[in-house]
Amino acid sequence: MHTRTYLQTRWGSQAMSALDAKLPAAARAVFTAPDLAAHSWYPISVWNAIADEISRWPNRSGVIRDLAAYVAEQDLTLAHKVLLKLGTPALVMRQAGVMWGMYFNGGRLAPLAEGERFFRLILYLGVDPQSDPGRQICRDAVPAWQENALRLSGARGGQSLHTKCRFEGHPTCEYEVRWLR
Ligand SMILES: [Zn+2]
Repeated sequence: MHTRTYLQTRWGSQAMSALDAKLPAAARAVFTAPDLAAHSWYPISVWNAIADEISRWPNRSGVIRDLAAYVAEQDLTLAHKVLLKLGTPALVMRQAGVMWGMYFNGGRLAPLAEGERFFRLILYLGVDPQSDPGRQICRDAVPAWQENALRLSGARGGQSLHTKCRFEGHPTCEYEVRWLR
């Protein structure tokens, strides 16, 4: 995950220290470890604690969406440069499930091609804060990632709507992803 790099760059080290101090001790131990690799997985409970804390931070509304856009940009422009250069937006959406597996060590994101420039994506996850990514992920991060992935692959007018949510009584989260051209 690129969360720490993102926060350090955008927030600065003073805000970072304040954030570290607010995290529960177990989450802080992981998040501030000096050998935290850029791509290492955090336990989900750590990520959920960070997401809860940063989305409560004053004057930082939209931080989760912005963070997800940053992550999409880092990964899709570096690791998947070739894919994107050759790929169409549809190809990138078909890869969305593989990309999910890069970020999360559990759950599944299944893309279904519904039409030209229209995908439905089903996110299979539970709602346990210890083991499942929380609301910030499905409500903010996933659509922001998808919209930025579309943009980076050359689509115009890309939009991802979170039409069903496992926190609102549905068995899965669902996204309708469309773009204009
Ligand atoms: Zn959801």
